[in-house]
Amino acid sequence: MTADAPDIPVSSRNQNIGTVVITVLPFLGLLAAVTMSWNEAVGLTDLMLFLGLYVICGFGITIGYHRMLTHRAFEAVAPLKAALLVAGSLAIQGAAIDWAVDHRTHHAFSDKEGDPHSPHHGFSSSVWGRLQGLGHAHVGWLFDHNRIDQERYAKDLLQDRMVVTISRLFPLWILLSFAIPFALGGAITRTWTGAFTGLVWGGLVRLFFNHHVTWSVNSICHVFGRRPFTANDRSTNNWLLALPSLGEAWHHNHHVFPTSAFHGLGWRQVDLSGIVIAAWEKLGLVRNVRRPSAEQIGRKRTAAAGA
Ligand SMILES: [Zn+2]
Ligand SMILES: [Zn+2]
Repeated sequence: MTADAPDIPVSSRNQNIGTVVITVLPFLGLLAAVTMSWNEAVGLTDLMLFLGLYVICGFGITIGYHRMLTHRAFEAVAPLKAALLVAGSLAIQGAAIDWAVDHRTHHAFSDKEGDPHSPHHGFSSSVWGRLQGLGHAHVGWLFDHNRIDQERYAKDLLQDRMVVTISRLFPLWILLSFAIPFALGGAITRTWTGAFTGLVWGGLVRLFFNHHVTWSVNSICHVFGRRPFTANDRSTNNWLLALPSLGEAWHHNHHVFPTSAFHGLGWRQVDLSGIVIAAWEKLGLVRNVRRPSAEQIGRKRTAAAGA
C-alpha cells in the first residue's frame, strides 16, 4: 500500500439517502422498543433474537470482514469463510469489499490526510473541534465519504470469486437482515405480533448496536484510552468497549500489530473474537493464524505504561 492520499470523487446523492435511512431507521426501532417495553416486559424470544443476531453479525464484522478479509490474519475453510462474509453483510455496514477498502485506507493513513474517519485530522483542538472530530469519526464520515479506488486497495479481493459474489449480493443480505428476525419471531411465537417485535428487536435494535459499537471503535478508540505501544497514530485501547465490541476495542494493539488475529494481548484483555478464532484453529477450521511473538510485543512496548 502506498502512502500518498487517495483521490476523492464527488459524493453520490443516492448513497447519502441510503446512509440516512440505514442510520435513522435503527434509532427509530430503538425508540419503538423502549416505548413497547414501557408497557410490557421484553419477551424472551425478542431478547434471544437480539442477542443471537447481535453476536452472529458482530463476529461477521470482527472476525469475517475485519480480521479475515481486510487484514488476512488467518484463512478459513470455504464454508466458514462464506458464512463469516454473509454474517458480516447482515450487519449492514456496507458490502464486504467496500468495508475492506475503507478500512485498509484507514490503516494506510491513520489520523492523517486520507484517513476516512479520523477524529483528529482536520479538526481543531478546542472542545468544539474535538466534538466535531468525534462526530465525524463516529458517523459523519459516512456522509462525506466516497469510495476509494478498489483496484488499488482490494486487488486481491477483486480476484476472489466468493468475495466478489457475496459483495454483489449485498441488497439480498440487507433484505435478509430484516426478514430473518421477522420470520423467526413469527415462527417461534406463531403470532404476527411476535413477527413484528422480532423485527424490532432482532432487526432494528440489533442493528443500532451493531452499528454504534463498530463506529465507537472508529471514534472513541482513537480518542479515549491507553496507548502502551509506540504507534504512528492516535489509536487507543478502551477496556469499557472490549466486551460489546467482541475484542475490537483493543484497537491500539491492533494498529501496532494489524495482521494479528488477536487484538487482546494477554488474558486480562478479553478478546471474544480471538477466543473464537483460537477454538476454530484447534478444530482445524482456520489455518495460518497470525500472532505477534513475545519478542515483537516487547520491542513495541514503550517504557511509559502497561495496558
Ligand atoms: Zn483505527
Ligand atoms: Zn484493522
